[in-house]
Amino acid sequence: MATNPRRANGHRRDRLRRRVLAAYDACAICGHPVDKTLPPNDPGAPEVDEIIPVSLGGNPLDWTNVQLAHRRCNQRKGNRLQLPSEPSASEPAQPTTSRDW
Ligand SMILES: [Zn+2]
Repeated sequence: MATNPRRANGHRRDRLRRRVLAAYDACAICGHPVDKTLPPNDPGAPEVDEIIPVSLGGNPLDWTNVQLAHRRCNQRKGNRLQLPSEPSASEPAQPTTSRDW
């Protein structure tokens, strides 16, 4: 029985995924709770996110390099280490009460 090299780490990855799902309840990217009952193709489904992406030398099997994330958050993050900071919309609108009469 030949072993498919692409699946060589499959069971280790599986174990790590279960451990991540058991350890965390909230998405590490957006901070919202993750519904672990969602199917894997759902945007809100739980995914194991590498803190340092594999493409940048991160180890996908290292417990200290993984966190829980929504599928959509993980995909939005892509290969960047951090999301671009969003402009804060909390700035109060300047009251335009210029009455020069
Ligand atoms: Zn999220």
